[in-house]
Amino acid sequence: MKVLVLNSGSSSVKYTFFSMDGEKKLARGIIECIGLPEAYFKHQSAGEEEVKEQCKVSNHLEAIDIIIKNLIDPRHKIINDLSEIDAVGHRIVHGGEKFSKSVMINEEVLQDIRNCFVLAPLHNPHNYTGIEACEKLLAGVPQIAVFDTAFHHTIPDYSYFYALPYSLYQKYNIRRYGFHGTSHHYVAQRAAQLLNKPPDQVNLITCHLGNGCSITAIRNGISVDTSMGFTPLEGLVMGTRCGDIDPAIIIHLLNLEKISADDLNTLLQKKSGLLGISGLTSDMRTILKSAASGSDRARLALDVFCYRVKKYISSYFGVLNGADAIVFTAGIGENSPTIRERSCHGLENLGIRMDLQANNAGGLEERIISAQDSPVKIMVIPTNEELMIARQTLRVLTNN
Ligand code: ADP
Repeated sequence: MKVLVLNSGSSSVKYTFFSMDGEKKLARGIIECIGLPEAYFKHQSAGEEEVKEQCKVSNHLEAIDIIIKNLIDPRHKIINDLSEIDAVGHRIVHGGEKFSKSVMINEEVLQDIRNCFVLAPLHNPHNYTGIEACEKLLAGVPQIAVFDTAFHHTIPDYSYFYALPYSLYQKYNIRRYGFHGTSHHYVAQRAAQLLNKPPDQVNLITCHLGNGCSITAIRNGISVDTSMGFTPLEGLVMGTRCGDIDPAIIIHLLNLEKISADDLNTLLQKKSGLLGISGLTSDMRTILKSAASGSDRARLALDVFCYRVKKYISSYFGVLNGADAIVFTAGIGENSPTIRERSCHGLENLGIRMDLQANNAGGLEERIISAQDSPVKIMVIPTNEELMIARQTLRVLTNN
């Protein structure tokens, strides 16, 4: 059984091709800058060097066509024929209130995904074009939608409700949905294995710290609260997104700066976060370097970032009445000992004690970085959203 996993963004399509017998990654790559002269294609077959080439690609249909042709290119020895692609798993950012799990795509599901455009205008329309392209290029191949929001469907109403007039929930479905669900779910399953506990008996705080950042409280294996909300803007400080702010600031800015709603959206989504505070960059590596070489604004961005993570860890610790483990994942969570240390620093009274040597040791593998005697384990678990999407795709296919 071979599964193609696609993540169609606004100007890029990422792909991973799996053989599910033994969950082997056969190929991966990305087409970036779709519609621009500098568009390029990166591809890596298992065990081979990555290749990068310029390409002319004006839309998602052309991008996915290039990806598929590449998979059957005899030079790569991946597959001989399109009929070897058994299914396609699509990452869909928003499944609204409707989807609590992955589903086989049919006309009704397509309509439901379109209905969610209004909830995720920056993501769902692009995810959708990926599905449309596959319907043309791989007619008859089952397509499965895997939603970023689905894992958070278990969040109770008192945690997903905003204290706004109830009618806004009824009229516009305004509530917390949560995102990065596939990643939180994956690392939670891995953490349960590392803890040697059944997945439905673990209490965890999972910290996905990448360009986008979110943190989830997991009780008995299910999500009970998460920091992203109605959109992926809420919660932690991110590369360019502000995370939590007082909503009155928005009214204030609308009045003071006479700024349009679109410009205000850009300010909150693309000009805030690490970039906004530092005035330098959204990239955590550069923030860390700049702070170390004396930039006070980079230092401040770092302080605000880590303090926010720590505040959420502490509050979810209370929500869960204790946790088996704190899990760090994604670009920053997996790679930055400094951020992990600072996010857990001063939480010893909660039973969260880091082994600084283990934290600094580096490495790409799953590992425990808490002190031997720490009641709460601290773990680094590389996320694998693509594999999770492939697994879900296989599950839906098998159940059908
Ligand atoms: P995305 O959310 O786009 O998938 P990633 O999970 O790849 O992003 O995370 C990107 C972030 O990870 C960037 O801020 C990058 O600087 C940060 N990062 C990657 N490696 C390191 C590292 N060694 N130390 C600190 N931050 C890192």
